[in-house]
Amino acid sequence: MIDATPMPGHPIAWAMVGGGQDSQIGPVHRSAAQRDHGLQLVAGAFDIDPVRGRQFGERLGLDAQRCYADYRAMFEAEARRPDGIRAVSIATPNNTHFEICRAALLAGLHVVCEKPLCFTTAEALQLLELSRASRRIVGVAYGYAGHQLMEQAREMVAQGELGEIRIVQMQFSHGFHSEAVEAASAAARWRMDPAHAGPSYVLGDLGTHPLYLSQLVLPGLEIERLMCSRQSFIGSRAPLEDNALALMQYRGGAMGYLWACAVNSGSMHGQRLRVIGSKASLEWWDEHPNQLRHEIQGRPAQVLDRGMDYLHPAARQEDRIGAGHAEGLFEAWANLYRRFALAMHATDRGDSLALGKIRYPDIQAGVEGVRWVENCVRSADAGGVWIDYR
Ligand code: NAD
Repeated sequence: MIDATPMPGHPIAWAMVGGGQDSQIGPVHRSAAQRDHGLQLVAGAFDIDPVRGRQFGERLGLDAQRCYADYRAMFEAEARRPDGIRAVSIATPNNTHFEICRAALLAGLHVVCEKPLCFTTAEALQLLELSRASRRIVGVAYGYAGHQLMEQAREMVAQGELGEIRIVQMQFSHGFHSEAVEAASAAARWRMDPAHAGPSYVLGDLGTHPLYLSQLVLPGLEIERLMCSRQSFIGSRAPLEDNALALMQYRGGAMGYLWACAVNSGSMHGQRLRVIGSKASLEWWDEHPNQLRHEIQGRPAQVLDRGMDYLHPAARQEDRIGAGHAEGLFEAWANLYRRFALAMHATDRGDSLALGKIRYPDIQAGVEGVRWVENCVRSADAGGVWIDYR
């Protein structure tokens, strides 16, 4: 159980790039990173507008001298301070991730980067090489990867409770962009602009989340072939899609399908993972994150609740308030940031044994997300055909 006792060797001095005033995800990073005092925000280049970014940093209580106009100035100045930052989170639009992540690694910083990590697999592999060479970690913000019931699902699959895995159903499909809201929302607008969003909208923005959850729960599955179709139901969004369906054939014969959608009218979030085996199925839905449905063929369905003693130990160790009270996105993110902070500290002291025991979406996960989007776009743009996964 996580009981708010201090983490030895922490907090780590930490900064943010992006995540400024009114940003969507900035507050979630700050709250999750500092919840267990694993990281402490001491500096930032929070905004594309330097004046607004500085004012915002000061409102967060930071020393005015450590509220920087841009990330380059921050990395340079912080490197000269004895108490300078050791880690940075990147919560800016997608087109900037590669260059900021690269600069951070070259500055010797640990990184937490928003998804998608970058635009191409070639770029992602460059970041992987750099993180290895600099011996710095890169974590990727797949928030629900920190939810305890993901550990439960992973254990149940590993112990064969589902039998042979046959079908994986993944979904992240909300309705918030059923109309052309981008006309009035800058945060929606950049997501539909290839210059800022990259080669995809919903595939990268939404699809990579359940894709990573599937990789976490089913580490043995490897995509062999893929077929994707994508559409822009709001025509002005073309060439980027607001709906996509991807069909995946895994090595060994299992099948997967992923629906990413921003025009699912009436749906709030709709992030789901359903794993179907020869004996039983598991299903998790982010709108009821405290429950994992376990359906055994021929028996009444069971609902496993977060925090209960019958769960696997790995699914109980990051419990914060016991069973019954609801935990959700903020706790999952806090668990993830706790693991990021532990991984940074283990790396800094050269403790590879401890590092090997910490599970978090790492640079390889970031690479795989980018690779998947690239393959989906390749298939969709060739007319929705089967392609060999590469
Ligand atoms: P947003 O448009 O709401 O906010 C972006 C912020 O970055 C703004 O404060 C902006 O001023 C700042 N910014 C832009 N360029 C900058 C630069 N060069 N230097 C410093 N600051 C800069 O966007 P958002 O919705 O918060 O998304 C940001 C990133 O987070 C995106 O990559 C998005 O895909 C990702 N995201 C992830 C999740 C998740 O669940 N992991 C959820 C939402 C968004």
